[in-house]
Formats: sequence, structure tokens, C-alpha cells
Amino acid sequence: MPTKFYLTTPIYYVNGKPSIGHAYTTFVADTIARYQRMLGKEVEFLTGTDENSQKNVEAAAAAGREDDIQGYLDEMAALWQRTFDSLGITNTRFIRTTEADHHKAVEAFWKRVEAKGDIYKGTYEGLYCGKCEAFYTENDLEGGLCPFHKTKPDHIKEDNYFFALTKYRDALLEHIEKNPEFVQPKERRNEIVSYIKNFMTDVSVSRQTMKWGIPVPGDETHRLYVWFDALINYITGVGFATDEKKFDRFWPADLQLVGKDILKFHCALWPAMLMSAGLPLPKVVLAHGFFTVDGQKMSKSLGNVVDPVELSEQYSPDIIRYYAIRDIRLGDDGDFSHDRLRARYETDLANELGNLVHRVLTMTEKYTDAKVPEKAQGEILGAWQEYQQAMTDYRLTDALDIIWAVIRRTNQFIEQQQPWALAKLEEKKMLHDTLYVLLETLRHIAWMLWPFMPDTAEKMFTKLGLEVPKEFSQSVESAWVWGELKPGSGVEKGEPLFPRKE
Ligand SMILES: [Zn+2]
Repeated sequence: MPTKFYLTTPIYYVNGKPSIGHAYTTFVADTIARYQRMLGKEVEFLTGTDENSQKNVEAAAAAGREDDIQGYLDEMAALWQRTFDSLGITNTRFIRTTEADHHKAVEAFWKRVEAKGDIYKGTYEGLYCGKCEAFYTENDLEGGLCPFHKTKPDHIKEDNYFFALTKYRDALLEHIEKNPEFVQPKERRNEIVSYIKNFMTDVSVSRQTMKWGIPVPGDETHRLYVWFDALINYITGVGFATDEKKFDRFWPADLQLVGKDILKFHCALWPAMLMSAGLPLPKVVLAHGFFTVDGQKMSKSLGNVVDPVELSEQYSPDIIRYYAIRDIRLGDDGDFSHDRLRARYETDLANELGNLVHRVLTMTEKYTDAKVPEKAQGEILGAWQEYQQAMTDYRLTDALDIIWAVIRRTNQFIEQQQPWALAKLEEKKMLHDTLYVLLETLRHIAWMLWPFMPDTAEKMFTKLGLEVPKEFSQSVESAWVWGELKPGSGVEKGEPLFPRKE
């Protein structure tokens, strides 16, 4: 099994604060990162901010900071970092594209691509959506408007540097054909193949009109087109041009998470850039869908932008990540519904999981003096196999379904065994066996839950008398087998995990 795992989120514009949509992508990445660590792998997990975009400049100006753009970016990047920290995100680096090592990586990368003969000077004339920071052909538009912003793109004409993207058309198609897992989900693959085959053109990679951004190496009168610089962050983040040893260990990325609106950049431009620079391609690019809130598009003008920090204060980061990943299947469009969040809190978390933990520990306190009884046989391996397969395939919603199937079966097991009746009949052996099965199953549930709900899982370990660091210091092979919970050790019911909300 490989010993490393490298995953990335998109880097985010800092023209506003993080919304629940950004938090969702980052929660998904964090869940996968934690799972890979659980397998014992060394994980690099990169997220950060895209600071060379014109959008940031406009936001700085709108905030009256046009003379202090870098200061504005510093404050906003710090806000994003604080937000991710408060949400419990375990990224190993928070990259900012205004950082020195990124500029160094971009320069080195540009030189490679230029040496390959893939940069040429030409005149760009065509359509440009300033909000997307993307060039469009008539074909890309819907009714003459940007498909994402429903605004008329600008017609621009400029002498620019171009990247010979179409030179890589056949190589890209061949790569996608030979590596069906490269673009996920499948619907996105067909979309990207059609784009590469029919619509892809060489791309302008510099702008003369821009005042902000990384200068073109060797020609300071041009600034790099923001996407050309932004995509390179994924290799800067693991040491390209600054730490070759680290770079060789971690590149190519195992997983790059993106939104479906930026798929073309990640599945056509980016791999072609890497081919040109003679670097390997990421193994998987996985696009999540679009997000609505209570059935409506999230927008500042509608005033329905959900702040993940406020929502976490009302619930907890664990609850928000649970809800978002359970309800929104990775890859599909999804709706973030406040009603369903509340309902899932009440049913899945308070009634099913919380109640199970509380009942089992209450009975253990009552019938065995809060001590784990002698070992008894149980069966959990099947669930682990299904869970592991789902996690490997990035079917996170399915993995939660598998955990909840175990939770429901365990609640049913209590109803069947009726430990209170066994106690009355003084069927000690059967009572103890039942309690052991229940307690050990809780330990397995906590393990499976940990990548999704780390705080909850850790509270469960504590209640079961396990020390969190010690529990995680063992290999998964030993943790996942039945019977690791030690007879005679103490448990403590404590506070309910999910108290009922009024
Ligand atoms: Zn647009």
C-alpha cells in the first residue's frame, strides 16, 4: 500500500468570507485526509487562497483599500485561515499565491514550458468574462451570456502570450481514455471530453492591462493570467522548485477536489500544462456539484449566504460536516436545507447515535458497575469492508449510510436482547455478553465516524475509557479487529452527545 497521500482543495478568492459552500468542499477534503491518516499514511493536505485575481483587487477597492491591496489580502487570508481552524480543518499547509515560494515555482514552471516551445506571442481577440476570469467562445455562451453569471462578456483585443493548449489535444484525450478514474464523476468526464474534442483553443496566458498579479518572467509589461498562476499552487504546495525531495515524494497528487464550474481548468489546461512541463498528472480530479440553500441559489443579494462559523456556533463543526456530507452526495448538485439539518440532528444524531451511546453506557453503569465485561463474540468485519470500499471510492455519503446501518442494527439488537429483562432473570452470562458486544460495537462506530465527526468520535472513545492518542497510535489492522476493548476497564456515561434542542 502507498505510504503517502496528497490532496488539494481549490484555492479560494478572498473577495469575501467563506460560505458554507467553501466549507463543504473543505470538510470533504478534511474527511478524506483524516481517513488516509487513519490508514497510517503520511498526508499532505493543501488549501489556501488565490490572491492574484482581479476580483480581489476590486474587493480591496470596494473596501477603500486600493492603495493597500496586499494589506487587504493579508487580513482576508488570515480570516480564511482562522475560519478553517475554527472548523477543525487539518490542512498541512495554507498556501497563498502571493507567497515568495509560489512566485519562484511559477517562474521555474514558465521557463520549462517556454523551453518546450509552448509559449508564443499572438493577438487575442474575443470574449472574456471578468467575473469568471475566463475566455469564452460563442459556443460556451448561453444566449450570448456567460453561462455562470448571465452577463454579457467583454469583447477584448490584446497582444498576449499564448499557451499552445491544442498541441495537447490528443494526449489529453488519450489520458482520459486510458485512465477512466482521472475525471470524476463520470458525467463530468463526457463533458470534458466533448470540450477537448470540439471547443478547446490555445489560451492567452498574459494580460497587459492588469496591474496586479505575477509578472511574466522576462517581460514585466505583462502579468500572468490568473489561472495559469493559480493552478501551479498545487505543485508549489509540495515543494516544486524549492524542495525537490518533498516534491518527488508527494507529486502527483492523489486527489484534487474542484467545483464543476472550474473543471475545464483542472481537466484540460492543468494536465496540458503539466505535460508541457514534463510532470506527471494528478491521479484523480473530482468535481463537486453546485450548492443551493433552502432551494435557492446562494447570493449576497438574496441575503441567504450561510456563514459556516455562525452555523457551527449554533450546532458544532461536527454536526455541520455530518449533515452536509450525509445530505449532499459528492459530485451531485445539492441543497443545504436548514430544516433537514435540524431533522437530521434530531433523528440521526440525537435519537439514533446519541441515544445508543447513552443507553449502552447507562446499562453498563447499572449492571456491571461501569466496567467492561468479559469478551464475547461479535461481527463487524463486513461493515468495515463495505466502509473501506466506499472511502476508497470517495463515496462518503455511502460510508455514512454504512455507519448508520450499524447504529440501527445495534439499537435493534438492544431491543431483541432486552438487557433489563436478562438482569431481572439473573442471566448474567448472556447479559455480560450482550453488553460487551454493545460496547465493542461502539468502539468500532467511533473509529468509522472519526474522519467525519472527529470531536464526537473522540468523546465516544473517552466515554469508553480509551485514551484518544493511544487509540490512534495503533495500526488500523489491529484496531479494526473484534475484541480490542479490554475487560475490566472503566467506562463513563457523562453528558449526552447530542442534547435535545428546544
Ligand atoms: Zn462569468
